[in-house]
Amino acid sequence: MEAFDELLELQALDTEITQLEHKAAHLPEAAAVVEAKRVMANLRAESETIGTEHRHLLAVIEANETAVTGMRKQLDRLAAQMKTVIAPREAEALQHEMANHESKISSLEDESLAALERSEELDATLAELGPEIAARGSNVEEAERKLREALGSVREALSGATERRGATAARIDAQWLAQYDRRRTAHGGVAIARLVRATCGGCHIDLSTSEVEAVRREAATRRECPNCGRWLVI
Ligand SMILES: [Zn+2]
Repeated sequence: MEAFDELLELQALDTEITQLEHKAAHLPEAAAVVEAKRVMANLRAESETIGTEHRHLLAVIEANETAVTGMRKQLDRLAAQMKTVIAPREAEALQHEMANHESKISSLEDESLAALERSEELDATLAELGPEIAARGSNVEEAERKLREALGSVREALSGATERRGATAARIDAQWLAQYDRRRTAHGGVAIARLVRATCGGCHIDLSTSEVEAVRREAATRRECPNCGRWLVI
């Protein structure tokens, strides 16, 4: 029966279109872009975290310098005061205050030194991250270029298949088309299949000899798989 041969051709095109749409939605090139962007985002985040710590360390060093300068002035004042002091108890108190200042200055300077060393380490890490981020950036661009290419070729295949589908559908009676659409919806996208030896091409279940004979006895447009109910072409 001609109508069923045309429907079988239409089915092949619809299956091809479904597969191409699935392919377009699940391109490995798209996953590669996501992965390249993820790596890039991690590096940027790392670089940002380091930058924040680096700025904080510089601020600590600057604040310590200001504090030390102020304390040294106070020390000078206390030293000048010391020269004029006669009472031993007063001298002792001044000495104690001066020792306190010196100890604070020393601990601030230690802190600044540690901050400086750490900031130099961070500088070195940032210097390594810079070129790596640039390299990863070109990885993202390359992955995006490959994705555009892959998508382009799938879309080209899709438009070709869609065009052929239109031409095939135009040759089929509207009444058959409507039935075909209903059956496709009911049967997971496959309305019609070939019976290959005793196997239904739709559900892939083998028919018994008597079932095959019963199908053969039907008129060509009334043949259905006894298991899945799809149209069968023999
Ligand atoms: Zn079947």
